[in-house]
Amino acid sequence: MRNALWDWDAEVADAIACEERRQLGTIELIASENFTSPAVMAAVGSVLTNKYAEGYPGRRYYGGCECVDRVEELAIARAKQLFGAQHVNVQPHSGAQANLAAMLAVLQPGDRIMGLSLRQGGHLTHGMDVNASGRLFEPHFYTLHPETEQLDYDLIRQQVHEVRPRLIIAGYSAYSRTIDFARFREIADEVGAILMADIAHIAGIVAAGLHPTPVGAAQIITTTTHKTLRGPRGGMILCDAEYAAAIDKAVFPGTQGGPLMHIIAGKAVAFGEALKPEFRVYIERVLENARVLAETLQSAGFRIVSGGTDNHLMLVDLTPLGISGRKAERALDSVGITVNKNAIPNDPRPPVQTSGIRLGTPAMTTRGFGPEEMRLTGRLIADVLYNVDDEVVRERVRAQVRELVAQFPLPGAPALSMVEHATQD
Ligand SMILES: *Cc1c(COP(=O)(O)O)cnc(C)c1O
Repeated sequence: MRNALWDWDAEVADAIACEERRQLGTIELIASENFTSPAVMAAVGSVLTNKYAEGYPGRRYYGGCECVDRVEELAIARAKQLFGAQHVNVQPHSGAQANLAAMLAVLQPGDRIMGLSLRQGGHLTHGMDVNASGRLFEPHFYTLHPETEQLDYDLIRQQVHEVRPRLIIAGYSAYSRTIDFARFREIADEVGAILMADIAHIAGIVAAGLHPTPVGAAQIITTTTHKTLRGPRGGMILCDAEYAAAIDKAVFPGTQGGPLMHIIAGKAVAFGEALKPEFRVYIERVLENARVLAETLQSAGFRIVSGGTDNHLMLVDLTPLGISGRKAERALDSVGITVNKNAIPNDPRPPVQTSGIRLGTPAMTTRGFGPEEMRLTGRLIADVLYNVDDEVVRERVRAQVRELVAQFPLPGAPALSMVEHATQD
């Protein structure tokens, strides 16, 4: 099959084919990535990209919105069903946009916000100095327990009482343990703070009922839709009815103009998929695969931060091997295993180097990897990292990776594929 984009714009088609071959030929372990279904991609690549629809269903600033209203209403209804939230806004263009809008909805410039230290797993939108969150508000940070490397609610309570923030953020980019949102709410109530849960990473696990839900505990919940939730790249906000008007106003016109209706259609499709029983089975496999990968690496002598994982990701401490996260990322890249360098708690190395790598299983589980493939992947990672300058080992692993991934096609091929034509050239 020949994708029509080749006839219309071969230069762009070729670049997309290049990326498709990269995705096909590598083991994708970046914890924030996933492979969407062909149904999501079909919605995203639709005529909805042509439509302006500023406003909300039934109250738009443009004519001709009767069809896109249905799309957005479907997305909202499905998200409500999936998470049990009172109010949903599906318009944020990304997780970062969702966080900015949520903060603007309930804070005044200069108010104190408090999230996990960015060097211990907090996201840059939780108060980094160069991010809007750190420039508009006064950022403060709580920290992990120095020995367990886990959230310690007595320590957090003490740190929160010292700062007395207006907003507390619970939710992270590189934390492998379960979050107790109810405990966070108790702490927030003690100082009169609002609790915002940022479930960007764990949204799919929450939707499947395999991580405690923040709904009912956090007044405001932000998320991405493209990580474990496996939808199109985008964001979303859930909140108590009390905050509905403020949230909607902060998204539009507060921080955005016209919504991306094609992406909202993709979100609706993804939420529909996540409501099916198969999605829970998928998330169960994601979690099992993560446990197996962590155990395989531990058996091979690696230290996993906090001693293991409860979710889809893990941080590997490379200090005992004497190599940096950057060096490990590059070595693994060279054999077709894609990971990202990541700081470990109290990392002595600077952020451009780091002492760790972050690994996650959502993407390869979607491609069909089970525990057996995860064990092999763990052993290949160990082979490379224990022999980081050995080109013979790398050549052998590269061939093993190629052979392994060849058995697991990408979702969406061949209907949406660019590659078949390119390989015939
Ligand atoms: C990924 C992530 C975000 C940001 O999402 P983008 O879509 O990249 O803007 C926000 N918060 C957390 C915790 C994340 O992991």
